Amino acid sequence: MNTARAQEDQPPGPVYVVQEGDSIWGIAQRFNVSVTELSRLNDISDPGQLAIGTNLVIPGLDDVQGILVTGAVSYGENLRSLSRRYKISEDTLARLNRIITPASLFVGSNIILPEESFDQPVRQRVSPAPGESLLELAVKQNLNPWNLMTINEMQGSWETYAGESLLTPTVTSVDTPGGLPAAITNIEVETVPLIQGSTLVVRMQVQGGMDLTGTITDHMFPFFHDVERTYIGIQGIHAMAQPGFFPLIIRGNLDDGTPVSYSQWIYVRAGDFTFERLEVPPETIDPENTRPEEELWESLMVAATSERMWDGLFALPVSPLFAECYPSLYGNRRSYNGSPFNYFHSGLDFCGGVGQDVYAVGAGVVVFADFLTVRGNSTVIDHGWGVYSAYMHQSEIQVEVGEQVEAGQLIGLVGATGRVTGSHLHLEVIVNGVQVDPLDWLEREFP
Ligand SMILES: [Zn+2]
Repeated sequence: MNTARAQEDQPPGPVYVVQEGDSIWGIAQRFNVSVTELSRLNDISDPGQLAIGTNLVIPGLDDVQGILVTGAVSYGENLRSLSRRYKISEDTLARLNRIITPASLFVGSNIILPEESFDQPVRQRVSPAPGESLLELAVKQNLNPWNLMTINEMQGSWETYAGESLLTPTVTSVDTPGGLPAAITNIEVETVPLIQGSTLVVRMQVQGGMDLTGTITDHMFPFFHDVERTYIGIQGIHAMAQPGFFPLIIRGNLDDGTPVSYSQWIYVRAGDFTFERLEVPPETIDPENTRPEEELWESLMVAATSERMWDGLFALPVSPLFAECYPSLYGNRRSYNGSPFNYFHSGLDFCGGVGQDVYAVGAGVVVFADFLTVRGNSTVIDHGWGVYSAYMHQSEIQVEVGEQVEAGQLIGLVGATGRVTGSHLHLEVIVNGVQVDPLDWLEREFP
C-alpha cells in the first residue's frame, strides 16, 4: 500500500494515461521501471486488469510533473533544443525517453513530454555570427546577457558557437526547429518514414540567402530556390537501399557567413516488392552489352537544371484505356534466365499494343532519343531540378534531342524493342540520379 500518495493533490511524479493496447509490462518497459514498482506505487493488485484511461504515476521522475503525452520529433530538433524549449533538463529528457544513442531522436520518432510543456510560449531564436561572443550578441539584439544565459540554461558565456540557436525573452507565435541556426526559420521533411524507392522532399525557409546541400543514403542533393524565401531539395531513395537508419545531413553556409552542419537520423523502410523470374535473350543481360549502356544511361541524368519545368502531378504516359494496367510494378526483385534476384525493376510497366500513343508525363526538354540494346527505342526528358523521365521499348520515337515538350504531348509509340517479353511501355522517373517509383509521381504532386 502506498501511503505517501493518499490525500495529496499533486501526485509524486508525472502521470501516464493508459491507452488502448497498453499493458503494464509495455508501460514499465517504455519508462524503464519495474512492473513491481509501478504496481506498488499505483495500488495495482492485478496487473492483467489495466483499464483504459487509468492514471498511472510513473516513479523515478520526481522533477517532472503533469500528464505525459507523446509527440513526433521533427527534423531540426535535438536533445539540447528540446530541453531548452520544454524547460526539462537534458538528463531528464533522456531518462524519460530512454535516449541512449543519437538514433533515438530520429525524424518522426515518438517522444514523451509532459503535456503542459507543449503549451510553453514559443520564444524567438537568435544565433551568434562567426566570432561573435554571447555578450556582443546580447548588445546587438538589445538583450540582457544574464537573462539570455538563464533562459538557455547556460553555465557561462563561453558555451555558444556560431550558428547555434538561442532563445530570447521575446515570445513569438512561430514554431521553428530549435537545433538549427535562427536564419533557418522553418524546415520540413516530407514522406517520413522513407521507403525504398520513394522521393524525399526537404523544404526550407531561410532569411537571406544560403549555399546549403543535403545528403541522404550517401547521395548529395542540391537545394533550389522556389518562391520567396523557400528552398527545396529532392532526392530519390534507391529501391535496394539497405533498410535502417541513415543520417539526413544539411551542410554549407548561410549568406551571413554562418556555417551550418546538422545531422539527424531518419528511417528507411523496406518496400513491399514481389519476386519475378524472367527469360530473355542472353545478349540482353551480357555485361559486355549492358555495362556501356548503363554508363551512357547514368551520364544522361547527372546534370540538374536549375529551372523547374514540370508542374503538379505527372500525366499518364499512355492512353487512359491502359490506366492502372501494369504488367510489372516498380521495385520488383528480378531473376533473369535463372540468375539470383540481384536485379530490380527500375520503372513501371504500362500495358499497350505496338503502335499505341506514348505521352510526356510533364513539361521538359528531350535529352536523349535513340535505340539501345536493353532499353530499345528510348526517350529521356529533363524536367529540371534533377528530375528526369524515361520511356523505353518504343516502336517509334517522335521527338528529337533539344526539343521542348509539354505534359501530355505525343512523343512516340509503344513497342517491343530491347530486352522485353512482350509489347509495353516502361516508364522511369529519376530523381537526382536515382530511379524512384513512378506511381508516386502520378498520384502525388512534387515537390
Ligand atoms: Zn519495365
